[in-house]
Amino acid sequence: MFTASPGAAKTNDTIAAIATPPGAGGIAILRLSGPDAAGIGSALFSRKLSESHRFLYGHIAADGERVDEAMAVLMRAPRSYTREDVVELHCHGGDYACRRVLEAAIALGARPAGPGEFTRRAFENGRIDLAQAEATMRLVGATGEASARAALRQLDGAVSRGIQAARDKLTGMLAEIAACTDFPDEIEEEPTAQKLLDDAEALFAELIAACDARASRVLEQGLSIVICGKPNVGKSSLLNALLKEPLAIVTAEAGTTRDAVRGTLRLAGIRAVLTDTAGLRDMAGEAETIGIERARSAIRGADLVLAVLDGSAPATDEDAALLAETEEQARLIVANKADLPAGGGAPGVAADLAVSAKTGAGIDALLARLEAFARDTRAGDALLTQSRHIEAALRAAGSLTDMAESLAAGRPVDLAAIDAHAALRALSEITGESAEESVIDAVFRTFCVGK
Ligand code: GDP
Repeated sequence: MFTASPGAAKTNDTIAAIATPPGAGGIAILRLSGPDAAGIGSALFSRKLSESHRFLYGHIAADGERVDEAMAVLMRAPRSYTREDVVELHCHGGDYACRRVLEAAIALGARPAGPGEFTRRAFENGRIDLAQAEATMRLVGATGEASARAALRQLDGAVSRGIQAARDKLTGMLAEIAACTDFPDEIEEEPTAQKLLDDAEALFAELIAACDARASRVLEQGLSIVICGKPNVGKSSLLNALLKEPLAIVTAEAGTTRDAVRGTLRLAGIRAVLTDTAGLRDMAGEAETIGIERARSAIRGADLVLAVLDGSAPATDEDAALLAETEEQARLIVANKADLPAGGGAPGVAADLAVSAKTGAGIDALLARLEAFARDTRAGDALLTQSRHIEAALRAAGSLTDMAESLAAGRPVDLAAIDAHAALRALSEITGESAEESVIDAVFRTFCVGK
């Protein structure tokens, strides 16, 4: 078990890494953190770094040779990202000079930092908890407004505070159990059991409400929009029209898109993955049958289904079957080929909108509907939107269910303590107080070097 405790730094070596992405750029930043950061920084820089939080102009030399013109800043512990002494050397952007400076720092005793090691030190030195450390990486990797907003909320400590509040409730419950078992003559078991049962049920409901599994999946994997319909209604053409680029193969022969074809769109700040599926039809060859099976599973897993009909031809049983199959899902019924004379439609079903993938008519209206859908699906105010956190919170909720069942069955109150402890442990994994070393390692493995 790992215990993060605020206070003095635990590490005694100094780490170094280039904190900016590789390649040519305006500036490149070398970051040092640890007890020798000021010493190594001063040895590299033409001026002594002694005053905290003051940006200095000067030169960097390695092996007696001037390598770069730079700005340098020392941030004394604990007022730094890692809570250790941190030095940043801002060199001219470009791989060579900054790498020379890194090599020189290593020659002076620094150790090359591993992935996420600066953030890990911030965590180990108690400046941030595990959920906040993950949030920094989420923010760095955010591809849209929605994921950035969720990351920022988490970084601000919203997740940590919410989890702390739930843990406080569990600690309160444990105190009641202890009081009841320690003073059996003074405290009656029956009303305590009833109160614990109510509290367990209330906290269970709170945890479930805090988990937005859908938002988590959408933020991590993107919103899944699946285009389906019988062969030749214009699914591939529609995908291309929506992406405004030719991606799927479009032919006049039925059954050409045998596999799923994908493209990505940005809708209301969310990444959306559009999938064009094999046409669903009964008469099909072997390869196509596999394609159809994949199409069915893509449809089942979709956040939104675009059921495409050929608006220029009479609807068939295959159309009716598709509409019946997707009835329960969020879907838009799109009548394509609106540039041709109308062909009769489907019995009892009105299309949500008519488009022409060929001329582009109605495509913007369709995109607007997709945007609106994305906006509605976007992470709401749910607290937990990261799969690791949701998994742990659901485990805690499971322990609360066990606790409620045990109390409802009239089992002794002290048994409830076991479940309460299990729930407490699961919640503490989210913020890292009781996370296994392997969990912490896994979290930081996803980081980049220099963060
Ligand atoms: P899929 O099998 O459903 O993917 O259909 P395709 O996109 O391959 O299109 C089948 C045929 O319909 C092709 O010949 C397309 O050019 C044609 N097509 C697709 N969309 C339209 C449209 O909006 N109007 C017209 N007139 N033809 C279309």
